[in-house]
Amino acid sequence: MAGERILVVEDEKDIQELVRYNLEKHGFEVVSATTGEDGVAAARRRDPKLVLLDIMLPGMDGLDVCRALKGDPKTAGIPVIMLTAKGEEPDVVAGLELGARDYVTKPFSPRVLVARVRAALRGPAPGAPEGGGRIEVHDIVIDPERRRVEAGGRPVELTFTEFGVLRVLAARPGRVFTRYEIVDGVRGEAYPVTERAVDVQIVGLRRKLGRCGRYIETVRGVGYRMKE
Ligand code: CA
Repeated sequence: MAGERILVVEDEKDIQELVRYNLEKHGFEVVSATTGEDGVAAARRRDPKLVLLDIMLPGMDGLDVCRALKGDPKTAGIPVIMLTAKGEEPDVVAGLELGARDYVTKPFSPRVLVARVRAALRGPAPGAPEGGGRIEVHDIVIDPERRRVEAGGRPVELTFTEFGVLRVLAARPGRVFTRYEIVDGVRGEAYPVTERAVDVQIVGLRRKLGRCGRYIETVRGVGYRMKE
């Protein structure tokens, strides 16, 4: 994975340098852009494996850039991680729904940033049901083939929808899913759920998972995630 080219679109010089320093330290090649327009052009020209994208950019903002990248077949497959400030949760939701893979909130620790970059380079598209593979996270074991779940070594009876929600979250620990993405992930299994219903499903899931329920975290203003 080292040596892979990362495009960083960020207008603040200090953050641009901090990101560059840490990615290069871990062996990545870094290409920089300081405006949205340059970012889109660089994504098309330089063939990066991942884009780190600031949301608040002068002119064409991060959401516009994300929309442009996802709308162009040449760049649509490049994973995007948004760099956001506190209070930008509505933008985070919009970005995730435009197809961004993940986001990191400023100020971030370099360790977290590098871990997210590595995860995004490894991971499949969010929300995509991952075949029949068994998922083990914390003390929770999910067996999609048998539709069985164990938490803390004990079997847990879940409804069809609760199972679907848990599976979406557990497939990508640490990654935040918006309610819409959770609905979309579950709907992949041909089951209708509304965004509002997700909150109700989460309450039921946490209760049934007992002490493992705490691993499902609420991310204020954004959605839910399985603790990393
Ligand atoms: Ca900015």
